[in-house]
Amino acid sequence: MEIVCLDLEGVLIPEIWINFAERTGIDELRATTRDIPDYDVLMKQRLALLDQHGYGLPDIQEVIDGMGPLEGAREFLDWLRPNFQVIILSDTFYEFAKPLMRQLGWPTLLCHKLEVNAEGRITDYVLRQKDPKRMSVQALHGLNYRVIAAGDSYNDTTMLAEADAGILFHAPQNVIDEFPQFPAVHTFEELRAEIASASVRDISPA
Ligand SMILES: [Mg+2]
Repeated sequence: MEIVCLDLEGVLIPEIWINFAERTGIDELRATTRDIPDYDVLMKQRLALLDQHGYGLPDIQEVIDGMGPLEGAREFLDWLRPNFQVIILSDTFYEFAKPLMRQLGWPTLLCHKLEVNAEGRITDYVLRQKDPKRMSVQALHGLNYRVIAAGDSYNDTTMLAEADAGILFHAPQNVIDEFPQFPAVHTFEELRAEIASASVRDISPA
């Protein structure tokens, strides 16, 4: 039995925080773990900025709804899902991903969650576990699945290493150079071909 695990941001949808910063003009929201390595400090800053600019969850979801999936993502998933069981493993939050998951046809998503009060203000966030992508692949191995995984960034590399086949998709050159053990592709057509060839079954990439 084979399962495909996909990263979400940068693979199927745009980077939510960067896109949100562009759409709202809140420049400080462009900061990532490259600028502030401590994720907890970074998230607290993001939530404080949303608060300060008066963005509650419904406003944020409206902005995210306007982003749309990456071009070709829906068609890629529509090819993938009849051929494989598919789980999306992401470091985003259910509440942020929701408008985009609707546009992708509600594939299964494992990620983190937010705490929101009755007024829609985000009060806190809950990370499901540490190193969640790798732990998810490990758990699937425990269920006797063979795992093919694809992602675009550093937070995917433990998932790719744990999987039976790991693929870099849309990855920046520094990640490709640092992890030469993973094949790197840049279009959905190439990704389909890479997944089909990683499969132990005879899957048509078309
Ligand atoms: Mg990503």
